[in-house]
Amino acid sequence: MSDTDDTPMVKAERVHKSFGAVEVLKGIDLQVRRGEVFCVVGPSGSGKSTFLRCINHLEKINAGRLYVDGELVGYRQRGNKLYEMREREVAAQRRDIGMVFQRFNLFPHMTAAENVMEAPVQVKGLPKAEARERAEELLERVGLGDRADHYPAQLSGGQQQRVAIARALAMDPKLMLFDEPTSALDPELVGEVLDVMRALAEDGMTMIVVTHEMGFAREVGDSLVFMDEGVVVESGHPREVLTNPRHERTKAFLSKVL
Ligand code: ADP
Ligand code: MG
Repeated sequence: MSDTDDTPMVKAERVHKSFGAVEVLKGIDLQVRRGEVFCVVGPSGSGKSTFLRCINHLEKINAGRLYVDGELVGYRQRGNKLYEMREREVAAQRRDIGMVFQRFNLFPHMTAAENVMEAPVQVKGLPKAEARERAEELLERVGLGDRADHYPAQLSGGQQQRVAIARALAMDPKLMLFDEPTSALDPELVGEVLDVMRALAEDGMTMIVVTHEMGFAREVGDSLVFMDEGVVVESGHPREVLTNPRHERTKAFLSKVL
């Protein structure tokens, strides 16, 4: 699709998700535009990770509609009926979405470059030499050109997280999901990861970022939603919501994290 396409990159309509009897998402409505940095903030347990996981097929929604780039996530619609997608179709949708978790989840027995090469070689069948070259470019892009042959254990947390970002980028995603990517890092390592994310945003990547880094949300974010107990309590431009929260729950949360 072209840059002028105004189909939202993500659209959620009354999305519900339960685990057993516990309803975790209670009707989420939101839209993420192409090229935007969309921040999600809210207290622990409010359903932020679950929402990201639904976008990336790690969880299935129970009701509502969830679209990525105009396509229903996990379902085909014919007439009024929905049919679950086949595994191949699910895999095709997932390939276009990169995800970075709080824990870096690198393969410990593989070097940085091998971690980045893994999916392009295994999933896309890219020849190894080509994948290696591309991995080196991506590592360069996240400031780790000189660490290609290091193992995760030889890298700092911030460096590992940057490898994880490079690894996600290796599949040329149209959407990147970040689930508290800096929460597990020592404070002095947070900045280098946020800098990489900022550069990615400047390159026009569409990103959904769950974060407690309000400085990042304010400076880099285009939109922000505050979630609590499975609902979007309020949304708007990050500066607006962060400086001028309208709801008591948002005010209470922000007074704790700012
Ligand atoms: P957040 O990321 O905002 O902290 P989560 O989406 O991780 O919130 O969790 C929301 C709620 O859903 C929590 O109460 C959590 O315990 C529950 N939950 C998340 N995943 C599961 C699961 N696989 N099974 C049961 N409950 C879950
Ligand atoms: Mg979470």
